[in-house]
Amino acid sequence: NALASILKSGEVLTLAGEGNELEGKKYWMFKVVGVDKVMSKEVDEITNNHALIGVLVDSAKLFDSSVTSTGLALTIFSNASSLSARQLLYQKESIKEDNGWAVALLEEEGMTQFPSYSIKLNIKKELGWQEVDKELVFNALLIGVGVTLLIIALVRAKDQQSKELKQRNVVIERQVAEQTKELALTRDQALEASRVKSEFLASMSHEIRTPLNAIIGMSSLLEETPLNTEQKNYISVFKKAGDTLLSLVNDILDLSKIEAQQLVLENISFNLLETVEESVEIYALKAAENDVELLCHVDEEISINRMGDSARLRQIILNLISNALKFTEQGEVVVRVSEEPNDKDGETLRFSVSDSGIGIPAAKLDAIFASFTQVDSSTTRKYGGTGLGLSISRSLSEMMGGRIWVESEEGKGSNFCFTAKLDAVETEALEATNNTLTGITVLIVDDNAVCRDIIKSKLLANGAIVHEACDAEQVNTLFKNKDEIKPDIILVDFKMPTMNGFEFIEELKSRGLSSKLIMMLGAADLNHNMSRIKEAGIDAYLIKPIKRSELIQQLEFVQSGKTSISSAGTKTAGENADLKPLKILLVEDNPDNLLTISAILDSIDKNYITAESGNEGIEKAKKEKPCLILMDIQLPDLSGIDAVKKIKQIPELAQIPVAALTARAMKGDREEFLAH
Ligand code: ADP
Repeated sequence: NALASILKSGEVLTLAGEGNELEGKKYWMFKVVGVDKVMSKEVDEITNNHALIGVLVDSAKLFDSSVTSTGLALTIFSNASSLSARQLLYQKESIKEDNGWAVALLEEEGMTQFPSYSIKLNIKKELGWQEVDKELVFNALLIGVGVTLLIIALVRAKDQQSKELKQRNVVIERQVAEQTKELALTRDQALEASRVKSEFLASMSHEIRTPLNAIIGMSSLLEETPLNTEQKNYISVFKKAGDTLLSLVNDILDLSKIEAQQLVLENISFNLLETVEESVEIYALKAAENDVELLCHVDEEISINRMGDSARLRQIILNLISNALKFTEQGEVVVRVSEEPNDKDGETLRFSVSDSGIGIPAAKLDAIFASFTQVDSSTTRKYGGTGLGLSISRSLSEMMGGRIWVESEEGKGSNFCFTAKLDAVETEALEATNNTLTGITVLIVDDNAVCRDIIKSKLLANGAIVHEACDAEQVNTLFKNKDEIKPDIILVDFKMPTMNGFEFIEELKSRGLSSKLIMMLGAADLNHNMSRIKEAGIDAYLIKPIKRSELIQQLEFVQSGKTSISSAGTKTAGENADLKPLKILLVEDNPDNLLTISAILDSIDKNYITAESGNEGIEKAKKEKPCLILMDIQLPDLSGIDAVKKIKQIPELAQIPVAALTARAMKGDREEFLAH
């Protein structure tokens, strides 16, 4: 009451806490609540009409010391159940100056009634400038300025960069334009150089081949004339030199063509078996002379009709056989063709030429495929050669989608292999020629196991029953052990170590053997043994290396009871005697070549006429109406091609076949001539 009497309605009296212990941190706040209009100075009145609310505020607990600090807004409401409205007990406006305690009626709309005597505190702090961390602001400003400067710098740098780029582009474009001009000039010069090189090659090849043709042709003709031994020797020397020179020119020409990318492979269908067997046959005589067995085996399983360049394939095979024979003094050289083991579609074939010669040191195995490289250059004197063959073979096999390599051991021999992709040609159901020997028993007698194996596989593929023996002794054991063996045909090798083929046949005959007999012998042995073959009652002979088709044909022949001595082997000139001579027109201006070709024609066919210029050739063709024209391409007046064109325009001469005679062998020459 005392307090109420001294307080005006709405006033707040704050009393500091009692004693020292509170240190002014606890406050009692009293408030008289009542209605203003009835307020009077009379205590009683006040007492009766007003109530006093007291709240102890522990500032230390509630607000810490900040109650009095500036910037802090503090509001305390009380909501006594006895009161009709929320009362503001204390409000300190911070921003304004310390305005002391204020108690006011808070009239809030939608006010909720607190539970009895509850007090609600609201504390707000407004941040004053003085309280802001200046350093932080300064740093933030600094960073802000820094970032802005950086962005400006970046934008400027970008501008600068794009400007520089533009300038540089202009410079580069100018340089590119200049370089393109230079390149075009260089390309033109290179093309011109290549054209000049090709022309040089063409003319060099022509110029060298023309006299060589005369040398080789004439020496061949001279060799046929009656000569004493000394003269024969001299001629064989210059014929050999001519041949070497020709193969050298051919090799150099091939190499230059490959390097100038002038060499284009043909892709036409060919018979693989024939190509390989004919290539091997070329060296048959040489092998027989050197006493080296030359064998050939094309796997029975692979299809024979293939697409590719048979001439170039032959060139690689010939080169490898020639090397093998060159470096092999005894033993054998075996040519094999099989499917490449790692190739799934069967289009890639593997060709191998193995020999039992001097071999190649391991260190030189790779080097020998480089141009002009030989294992030992001193061998050139002994064996001849230029070191170009393998390099050309490598390029050719690579052009055929394959590769070439060698396995070799010094002193034991070498095995040169190459692969080539040669697509098989689909042939309309070829006549099944297999199994034509079904049920026929054949005995092979040969000391060479590889040779026996090759013949055996050919015979087995044709359905024959095959027995083999390496000599007479083995034949005896064979007959002794198996009485039922009665061979229909016996194939006997001529050259065997203990007794030769004739002696062996004598022995067989003495036992009363009734089998048919076929002798196998090398080309070099044929001539001196021809009469002996007939005398010995042999049914047929085969020349080694034996061709698959010939072997089967001869066996079929002999089995059917015919003697085929005259049909096997090479045809003699006499066999052509009944052919009528053809009238041939030879047009050639070079006197040496004219003489050479005339001499060759003389030896085979005397019915020919000659002309030495294009116009003369046309006149003679009109007059003589030949069956064949041999036309030189480079003629003094009009070219061979123009002469042929004119001849073809004359209806009665249009069908005469024309063969071009030329030493021109560059890319496109052949096609150009054939096109006319
Ligand atoms: P050329 O035979 O004309 O010298 P090649 O390129 O054909 O040239 O051969 C290069 C070299 O490789 C030969 O000189 C020889 O030293 C070696 N060589 C090639 N084939 C054989 C082989 N079958 N046996 C031993 N050495 C060989």
